[in-house]
Amino acid sequence: MGISENFKAIKSTIPKHVKLVAVSKTKPISDIELAYQSGQRIFGENKVQELQEKHPALPDDIEWHMIGHLQTNKVKFIAPFIDLIHAVDSIKLLKEINKQALKNDRTIPVLLQFHIAEEESKFGLSLDKATEMISSEEFSALENIAVYGVMGMATFTEDQNQVKTEFSKLTSIFNKLKTDYFSNSGCFKEISMGMSGDYKLAIETGSTMVRVGSLIFGNRNYDEK
Ligand SMILES: *Cc1c(COP(=O)(O)O)cnc(C)c1O
Repeated sequence: MGISENFKAIKSTIPKHVKLVAVSKTKPISDIELAYQSGQRIFGENKVQELQEKHPALPDDIEWHMIGHLQTNKVKFIAPFIDLIHAVDSIKLLKEINKQALKNDRTIPVLLQFHIAEEESKFGLSLDKATEMISSEEFSALENIAVYGVMGMATFTEDQNQVKTEFSKLTSIFNKLKTDYFSNSGCFKEISMGMSGDYKLAIETGSTMVRVGSLIFGNRNYDEK
């Protein structure tokens, strides 16, 4: 099957309230155009350089999401156009995003990344770290970021029960933060979880945004998380 067929088949399994981020990392512009022609408008990339190349070459009504780990010194390159930054896990990064947003006279939407997997990872917040950060004065002073919700990745395993437990953990973190800190925020409503292998389970467990790459575009030649 081609990209258009893959896209339509997957799209039909995703309920209306769930957003589909088509993860086009490592894929050429011509592949993105095919998905675009089938109606897809949200694309996710995990490298700043690819975003810089693809954004100007494609239609203006595409929503670009940065889904990978973002280095502080590269925020400036995507700040003028990025629509959502998924993997924010430090006050240092938030402050830089805020600074660059201000420079561009805009507000940049972000998701807070949580470490929900069993696997060791240097990325992602714990609930304790997040609450400490959100309660800080430094955080309150950031007027040019908008926290749209949370993001996480489950362990890469066949064990569906484990994946489900990890997704449920992210949903409870979202609910707790919503109640305790964002009850007056109209924009704190996204739970970004679920990839090609587990997006259906993620939707059953509360996901509002799935990030699907290989099921739409085929396997990637080189795979970097
Ligand atoms: C690559 C990537 C995806 C998509 O992975 P697939 O298994 O190809 O669907 C989703 N989220 C993140 C953060 C990624 O880096």
